[in-house]
Amino acid sequence: MAGEPQADCLFCKIVAGDVPATVVRETETTVAFRDINPQAPSHVLVIPRAHYPDAASLAEAEPEIAADVLREAGAVAAQEKVADGGYRVVFNTGSGAGQTVFHAHAHVLGGRGLNWPPG
Ligand code: 5GP
Repeated sequence: MAGEPQADCLFCKIVAGDVPATVVRETETTVAFRDINPQAPSHVLVIPRAHYPDAASLAEAEPEIAADVLREAGAVAAQEKVADGGYRVVFNTGSGAGQTVFHAHAHVLGGRGLNWPPG
């Protein structure tokens, strides 16, 4: 069923506590944890607890949870004290764009200057 945990999904395992992660914030619908391979001084992933393969499919099926993810991205930036300096929220979508984990997630990156366009 849409949104149900997937046995072969790494981020579903993090939600379940079966794979350890450094969790920085949690809500009823989302979990935020540090990226294992940080690309900035602060690099946190915000994910919905529900399993959807990417941000667009999450927004289509559960727009309120998609809004929760965006709200939490802002809350992470504030908590990490990177909001004033500017930060970036990224949803890589599709392998051609660098998506490697097919459970929707927002990258929240900050703490350094960020170039545009990204690579
Ligand atoms: P994507 O490439 O799909 O946009 O982002 C997936 C992110 O998950 C990558 O930045 C990668 O470093 C991170 N990642 C992969 N495996 C793990 C893990 O086991 N734990 C954590 N905390 N992050 C992970």
